[in-house]
Amino acid sequence: MPERDASERARDFDEVTLGYTEEMARAEASRCLQCRNPTCIEGCPVNIDIKSFIGEMIDGDYHAAVAVLKEKNALPAVCGRVCPQEEQCEARCVLAKKGESVAIGRLERWLGDFDLACELEGRCVPVVGADSGKRVAVVGSGPAGLACAGELRRYGHAVTVFESLHATGGVLTYGIPEFRLPKHIVQAEVGLLEEMGVEIRCDVVIGATYTIDELMTEEGFGAVFIGNGAGLPMFLGIPGENLNGVYSANEFLTRVNLMRAYEFPSADTPVWRGRKVAVVGGGNVAMDAARTAKRLGAEEVFLVYRRTEAEMPARKEEVHHAREEGIEFKMLCSPVEVLGKDGWVTGIVANTMELGEPDASGRRAPVCVMGADVTIDCDTVVMALGTRANPLLPKTTPDLELSKRGYILADEDGATSKPGVYAGGDIVTGSATVILAMGAGKRAARAMDEWLKQGD
Ligand SMILES: Cc1cc2nc3c(=O)[nH]c(=O)nc-3n(C[C@H](O)[C@H](O)[C@H](O)COP(=O)(O)OP(=O)(O)OC[C@H]3O[C@@H](n4cnc5c(N)ncnc54)[C@H](O)[C@@H]3O)c2cc1C
Repeated sequence: MPERDASERARDFDEVTLGYTEEMARAEASRCLQCRNPTCIEGCPVNIDIKSFIGEMIDGDYHAAVAVLKEKNALPAVCGRVCPQEEQCEARCVLAKKGESVAIGRLERWLGDFDLACELEGRCVPVVGADSGKRVAVVGSGPAGLACAGELRRYGHAVTVFESLHATGGVLTYGIPEFRLPKHIVQAEVGLLEEMGVEIRCDVVIGATYTIDELMTEEGFGAVFIGNGAGLPMFLGIPGENLNGVYSANEFLTRVNLMRAYEFPSADTPVWRGRKVAVVGGGNVAMDAARTAKRLGAEEVFLVYRRTEAEMPARKEEVHHAREEGIEFKMLCSPVEVLGKDGWVTGIVANTMELGEPDASGRRAPVCVMGADVTIDCDTVVMALGTRANPLLPKTTPDLELSKRGYILADEDGATSKPGVYAGGDIVTGSATVILAMGAGKRAARAMDEWLKQGD
């Protein structure tokens, strides 16, 4: 897929990849073998009928192709950009064994963009079921909440999404940077859900503005879906982490993405623009933070990770893009102290590591090499170590059972310990992926539909 030159794109926030032209999309679609038993579908967490949508593309009927996609996925332009397709549908493509699988994700993206580029009346808006007379509340407008809301509308229920921030989309908006997922794409796909009649109320914090009980008893909602994500940042707990210039990736990315800190002072939000930035972590979040720091003007950006590149959980494509943009990888480094002067960061001290036996996650565990500490000079440190569940909502809902780590306990269908209350996405699984969150939202919607019918 065409992409912008690394030296140019590392200086702005515009999208890195340019997407297929129609010709390219048709040519790629025509590589699909239209297998009798399409194994790619098994690899998709929401079971998109990949064979059929590609078949419609081959025939040149793009509207029909979009309709097939939207049967299972209301956010194709989003998922086409950020899903780890290489580990899901594309990994199961028959052609993968012969070399190169069909680029299913890129075709999905092309179709999603095609749909959004149509005039409003030409867009595919899924059909809404006959009014059921039931009202459902959805907490959080991330992928889990949006997928659940869309599905509940298809069943004919009235849906209100409550979002604590001033903008919708969850991590799609406040976490994933513009250069990977432009905000207008997220907002346009959310807009289509509104076209379906989903009501979205921003700046409402459930657990503060209303409790879950208040939603069900005073506000008249028959069921509630909790998709509030897991947005509480984690730190290493090492000396110096309270120095000025230390950020959590969440704060750093939210300031820049959602609050347009890169436009300061024309946007109100300031951000400390480091000259030498160390980002600690090896996942997509770390990659996003490092590439964002570079775009803010950092001369050097180090990615500090305690294993090697082979164990990094980030998508290969993002690692490749980060390298191209000049991010320097410092592998087998585990920070033990943030150094500072006059209250500001001046560097980090890290243990040098080597790989030992596999740990519980199956990855080889890093082991400290004694006496081989390194110091990395930097003026900014971004901790991209993962996130946890925010305790605010459960505190005001004491009958909601939680795991030891504070995540909501829910069964396969999202049912929690509280009757009529369902949950899904990162708040149940811990940090995962967009499509898994969407799958959980959809499964919960089906179960909630059953629950609401029981009340008839
Ligand atoms: C920087 C970053 C990059 C990522 N990159 C990828 C990627 O490339 N591909 C991928 O598949 N996954 C990626 N992920 C993971 C993915 O984004 C998440 O797994 C997914 O967004 C989880 O969806 P969710 O709906 O459960 O939660 P979220 O997206 O976190 O949405 C939860 C929403 O609930 C709102 N909320 C929270 N508390 C309340 C409350 N009390 N009341 C009302 N609203 C509330 C939040 O403001 C938020 O809008 C990334 C994550 C991050 C942080």
